[in-house]
Amino acid sequence: MRNTFIKMFHFFKFVLICGIFYSDGEWDFNWCDVGWLRENFDHAYMEEHVRINHFRNHYELTRKNLMVKNLKRFQKNLEKDMGRTEASKCDFFPSTYAMPSEYHLFVEEFNRNPGSTWIMKPVAKSQGKGIFLFRKLKDIIDWKKDRSRSEEQKDAAHLDSYVVQRYIENPYLINGRKFDLRVYVLVTSYVPLKVWLYRDGFARFSSSRFSLSTIDDKYMHLTNVSVQKTAPDYDPEKGCKWQMQQLRRYLTAKYGREVVETLFGDMDNIIIRSLQSVQKVIINDKHCFELYGYDILLDHNLKPWLIEVNASPSHAPSSQEDYEMKYGLLEDTLNVVDMEGRLTGQEKRVGGFDLMWNDGPVYTEDLNLQTFGSLSFTANTHLGCVNDREKNLRQLLKPFPLQKKI
Ligand code: ADP
Repeated sequence: MRNTFIKMFHFFKFVLICGIFYSDGEWDFNWCDVGWLRENFDHAYMEEHVRINHFRNHYELTRKNLMVKNLKRFQKNLEKDMGRTEASKCDFFPSTYAMPSEYHLFVEEFNRNPGSTWIMKPVAKSQGKGIFLFRKLKDIIDWKKDRSRSEEQKDAAHLDSYVVQRYIENPYLINGRKFDLRVYVLVTSYVPLKVWLYRDGFARFSSSRFSLSTIDDKYMHLTNVSVQKTAPDYDPEKGCKWQMQQLRRYLTAKYGREVVETLFGDMDNIIIRSLQSVQKVIINDKHCFELYGYDILLDHNLKPWLIEVNASPSHAPSSQEDYEMKYGLLEDTLNVVDMEGRLTGQEKRVGGFDLMWNDGPVYTEDLNLQTFGSLSFTANTHLGCVNDREKNLRQLLKPFPLQKKI
């Protein structure tokens, strides 16, 4: 009962913070879903001060097929302009083909890697819906036949509705279980690119021990919380998550600081390069910002792989701890967006968000100029580090004008 009351209180506080004043289609701040955006964005008149939580064509990054298309093009251009070594820094997404348009390219790759496992995913669905694993071309031929039969009635725009992707067969396991990481990234502008990384995040574990001997068990291979929640042995008390801090501590204890810093640096690289890959195609608009949910999988060499970027990461809490984390995340998003003009615009940190890119890399305050000369400076990113957000906010935020003592 008390929990319900607290949640309601926080919900109303959130609504007030958002300042969602919505009458006759007039609003100052709109936390909309992508469906609303599609229907209304082009007809909405937006005054200077209003803010909305998606960029018009966010799907260039958040649709599985378009994300890979943009990354492949970006990588190719990098190779042309800056050489192989630079382009190889984009080797963080598994080999992927749009289906059915790239079917023949896929078959060539499939034949070059006999016995490997592939994963088929609908481009515009989420929560693990419609996903299956396969090792035989026959499985996909049956799928293709079924699809072409049902697609005869549909228009061409719907054709590329799946991607087929190399399945990461050697995931990093903890207690024999696979997991992936959810990392929150806030983009407040694409031109110039301005990116904030949230300190909290989590690892989502599968409930069954990982094995390649069976590929039909979704509880073993798909780490989505929405899938794991339906597992017969799911324990709502324990859940299936570790906070990012817990994972970082675990890996540091096991491998030492340097290894973990390299890993987290590699994740920074994924975030920045994926955003750069769409920087020229996203319609930049000063009213828009976007809070992305990055899904990243580690393999057993501690190499991070980008699985997908979500435009509408779930904010539904799975435990009290998760609730507090997500509440802080949303509140800090609003703090960065700063509708009330409480910031100076020079901040490198707001609550749990650290500014990681501001038209170029951002470095930490305690930058040692001598080491800077030899290029060993430290990025201003603290994923999985202490998130003393409230202390930071107390120091940072000027009181609202109405709160000032007269
Ligand atoms: P959805 O949008 O439906 O959540 P994802 O692409 O995020 O689809 O995939 C769902 C889950 O499947 C991921 O969380 C991950 O556990 C697993 N998965 C997806 N792609 C791969 C891959 N290439 N290799 C290994 N596991 C994968």
